[in-house]
Amino acid sequence: MSAIRHNWTKEEILEIYNRPLMELLYQAATVHREYHDPNTVQVSTLLSIKTGGCPEDCGYCPQAARYHTDIEGNDLMTVPHVKAQALRAKAAGSSRVCMGAAWRNVKDGPEFDQVLEMVRTINKLEMEVCCTLGMLTENQAQRLAEAGLYAYNHNLDTSEEYYKEVISTRGFEDRLQTIDNVRKTNVTVCSGGIIGMGESVEDRAGMLVALSTLSPQPESVPINALVAVEGTPMANEKPVEIWEMIRMVATTRIVMPQTQVRLSAGRTEMSREGQAMCFFAGANSIFAGDKLLTTPNPDVSEDMQMFKMLGLNPQKPFVKKAQPETVEATESKLQELGENPKWTRPGHKIQKNELAKEEAQKTKAI
Ligand code: SF4
Repeated sequence: MSAIRHNWTKEEILEIYNRPLMELLYQAATVHREYHDPNTVQVSTLLSIKTGGCPEDCGYCPQAARYHTDIEGNDLMTVPHVKAQALRAKAAGSSRVCMGAAWRNVKDGPEFDQVLEMVRTINKLEMEVCCTLGMLTENQAQRLAEAGLYAYNHNLDTSEEYYKEVISTRGFEDRLQTIDNVRKTNVTVCSGGIIGMGESVEDRAGMLVALSTLSPQPESVPINALVAVEGTPMANEKPVEIWEMIRMVATTRIVMPQTQVRLSAGRTEMSREGQAMCFFAGANSIFAGDKLLTTPNPDVSEDMQMFKMLGLNPQKPFVKKAQPETVEATESKLQELGENPKWTRPGHKIQKNELAKEEAQKTKAI
C-alpha cells in the first residue's frame, strides 16, 4: 500500500503534477484503488444557511458585501427549513449535508445555538453533518462536536504566498489555527481550495504541501474550479481547463491517498467525460443540488443519470468513521465562553479587490 507521507515537498508535488498525463492517471488510479472502492462516490449537499452580507473580501466570492453581485442574501435559516432540505437531499441520494454561513467567524449566542440545533437534527437523520462557518475557537469546535458534527470545512483556498493576493481581511495562519482547533475534537477536517484564481502551478503545489503535511491529513479535500462571478474581483479570470482539474485531482489523490477528494465548484463547465476522468483520477465525492451555495451546479437527476452510465454507486454515510453521538442542548456539559479572539486582519491592499469595491460603490450610488 502507498504510505501516507507528511513530508511532501513542493518540488516533488510539481514533478507529479507535470508528469505525462497517462502516467499520472495510472498512478493516481492505482493509489485510489488501494484505499477506496473506485465505483463508489459520495454525494454531498451544500446548503447555504445564511447567504450574503459577509464582511470578508475573498476575491472569488459573490457573498462578500463589498462587491456588487446579484446574490439574494438571507438571514439564518430556521431548523425546520434545514431539516426539510436535508430530508430532500437524503431522498435524492445524499449521505452528507454541508451547511455554509457567510460569516467571518463564529460568535457565541442565539445564532450559533440555532446552528448547533441544526447539527443535532441532521445527525439524527443519519446523515454526515458538515459545517463551514468561518473561524472557530476550540470551545466552539467542542460544542459542535458535542452536537454531533461529523466534519468542519475550512479551506486553505491556495498557497500561503498567493493567499495575500486573494484575501486581505484575514491571514493564512488563522485558517491553520481553526483547523488545529477542530483537530482537538473528534470532528473530521475538510479543507481544500480553488484553482483558476490567477495562481501559478507552484501555488497549486504549495497548497497541496500545506494540506498534505498536516498530521493527520484532512479526511476530506474539496478541489474547486473558480466560478467567475460578475462583480467580483475575479470576474475576468479565464476558465479552468479540464486537464488542469484532472491533474489537480490526480496529484491530490497521490499525496493524500486516504482522503476523500471532492470534485466541487465548477462542474457545470465539465463534460461527463471530463468528470469521469476526474473519478478515474481519484475524485470520490461530488456536491449535488442545482446550486453550490450561490453558484450553479448540475441538477441531481443529471448526476444520477451520470452515475448510472458510469456504474457508480452513491457512498453510504459513516463508511469512513462511525456516526458521532448527539448530546441534547439540555444535557450539554459545555457552555459558551463569550470569547472574542483576535483573528488577524492583515489589511494590506489587493488592487483587484479595491477596484471591484469601488465599482460596486459607484453602481450602488446610481
Ligand atoms: S468565502 Fe466565506 S468568508 Fe470569504 S467572503 Fe465568501 S462567505 Fe465571506
